Amino acid sequence: MVRFLAAKKRFGQNFLHDESVIAAILDAFSAQKGERVLEIGPGQGALTRSLLNSGALIDVVEIDNDLIDQLQRRYPQLQNHIHHQDALTFSLTELNLSGQKLRIIGNLPYNISTPLLFHLLTQKEHIGDMLFMLQQEMVERLAAEPGCKAYGRLSVMIQLHCKVQALFSVPPQAFKPQPKVMSKIVYLVPYEKPLFRVDSMMTLENILRDAFNQRRKTIQNSLKHYFNAEGFIALGLDPKIRAEQIKIEQWVKLANAVSCT
Ligand code: SAM
Repeated sequence: MVRFLAAKKRFGQNFLHDESVIAAILDAFSAQKGERVLEIGPGQGALTRSLLNSGALIDVVEIDNDLIDQLQRRYPQLQNHIHHQDALTFSLTELNLSGQKLRIIGNLPYNISTPLLFHLLTQKEHIGDMLFMLQQEMVERLAAEPGCKAYGRLSVMIQLHCKVQALFSVPPQAFKPQPKVMSKIVYLVPYEKPLFRVDSMMTLENILRDAFNQRRKTIQNSLKHYFNAEGFIALGLDPKIRAEQIKIEQWVKLANAVSCT
């Protein structure tokens, strides 16, 4: 008997039910026979079902006990590949990848998507690519170029580590229950090494936080604790520009100049 489970808000449960959206996501991901795939938050199996048909070897990580029971009953072929864990602490080494790169997919719980992305990026040596459904606004921030309103800390930190491609939007009607916001699919391919050499990630994060928390100010104001006007000019930057005009390479230059003082 299939038991109806009420969606749990605390686990960000908005289950996909629109078959055309599900097909478009799986088409964009295109799992192939023999690949290792991890699905984060399989829920009731909207994506899992087709992933299993692809011939790829699927693992899933799900936090909700009730859904674990349901997945075990519905998909016996997943047997030893259902990990009842918190994706925020899940280690990819548990998957015994033997050097094979992992592909990751998920309609992510929106409340944990930022820390989850950073957690995955700490293990990026195991990851080939990732396709996620996220809140549209977050995808816009991930993919934003300098000069855009959405460009900020998240854009710099993620684009330093990954190639980011925003794919297509998904309306609330595709889910049950419906979220209050639009969603969007994003495709991420981690670089082997960060795009530019960073001496101290912590310094870079601090500078980004100081500058983007006061994004309307010029950098000579928001970053005055780090540089005077001559300091910016020496690094090839106009002290009168704002944070959103600075490219990733220039952020790294600024952070490395602070690190070496
Ligand atoms: N993939 C399903 C779908 O598309 O219908 C469910 C997506 S739902 C937005 C998010 C899923 O992630 C839920 O199944 C939820 O229980 C699970 N989840 C929430 N927090 C989690 C966590 N920290 N670790 C693992 N799974 C989590």
